[in-house]
Amino acid sequence: MIIGSGCAGLTAALYTARANLAPLVLSGLMPGGLLTTTSTVENYPGFPEGVDGYELMARMQKQAERFGARVQFATVEAVDLAHQPFALTVDGERVETKALIIASGAGHRRLGLESERRLEKQGVTYCATCDGALPMFRNQPLVVVGGGDSACEEALYLTRFGSVVHLIHRRDLLRASRIMAGRVLSNPKIRPVWDSVVTEVLDVNQGKVTGVRLRNVKTGAETVVDCAGVFVAIGHTPNTDLFKGVLAMDEQGYLLPLRGAQTSVTGVFVAGDCADHVYRQAITAAGMGCAAAIEVERYLASLNA
Ligand SMILES: Cc1cc2nc3c(=O)[nH]c(=O)nc-3n(C[C@H](O)[C@H](O)[C@H](O)COP(=O)(O)OP(=O)(O)OC[C@H]3O[C@@H](n4cnc5c(N)ncnc54)[C@H](O)[C@@H]3O)c2cc1C
Repeated sequence: MIIGSGCAGLTAALYTARANLAPLVLSGLMPGGLLTTTSTVENYPGFPEGVDGYELMARMQKQAERFGARVQFATVEAVDLAHQPFALTVDGERVETKALIIASGAGHRRLGLESERRLEKQGVTYCATCDGALPMFRNQPLVVVGGGDSACEEALYLTRFGSVVHLIHRRDLLRASRIMAGRVLSNPKIRPVWDSVVTEVLDVNQGKVTGVRLRNVKTGAETVVDCAGVFVAIGHTPNTDLFKGVLAMDEQGYLLPLRGAQTSVTGVFVAGDCADHVYRQAITAAGMGCAAAIEVERYLASLNA
């Protein structure tokens, strides 16, 4: 069984199906995963003109189904990994599996503003690597929200495309590592805006990002910063609550693969963003799905040896 139907889960399904292992993919509430929420994916190899995120995932599913994978719209509510076969509670029903691949992904944290929600894909984004090179952001002023390593990395990356990058942070000191903070603060294209929070993304009426309204948390003063893009980099939350106390994870909840894709429980493997707080890309998630599938194949063969 495979939990999750994003790039990691569906690639694992393709490989395990081609190995005649009859995988069942439990899709969760977001069939196709995070990539279905974006329009054009320009950095997935094999699509020189780019590909619509939804279409890419529909194709991945079709490819896995061609070799016998089944994809079920179902959510895993609980797991019992103490004994073989493993038991999962799926939409209230108990199901058993000899091997499990967890590919449940990670969600990005949002600012929680209505204007942010309304302007998502119209200039509000959560991934500079994914979207920074889009024409709408080229030679334009950009905003990054956050103060940790990710926010600093996003800001540095965006200096290649934007005319200027405003880094909005609610404190007066970056949380990022010293080396990263040093790089950011010495970059002439990055302008830190300290002690400030975004209260509104402008302009919902125009249907595109034209700026952000800020409030200084110390003085209460309001200002507007003009920009064509808002990159929110305030962290991610892996979808791993089900495995707390069951599988080894780091303090943020990312599952820790021990050897390759193997987790701390033999027979349980992991792939994609739920175990990766560094790369978080479709191609890396797919690669991890492939690795987990090959390891499952070897594990099941060893059970029957
Ligand atoms: C707006 C946006 C644009 C992006 N653009 C790009 C891009 O251009 N290029 C790129 O390489 N990457 C891009 N990414 C990143 C990319 O989408 C992710 O790296 C990739 O989707 C990770 O794949 P995954 O399979 O690990 O997880 P996800 O795609 O997050 O899939 C997780 C799956 O797990 C399921 N699930 C979760 N919990 C349960 C449960 N309890 N039971 C059953 N199922 C469950 C979900 O329903 C979902 O199907 C973008 C991300 C976003 C948000």
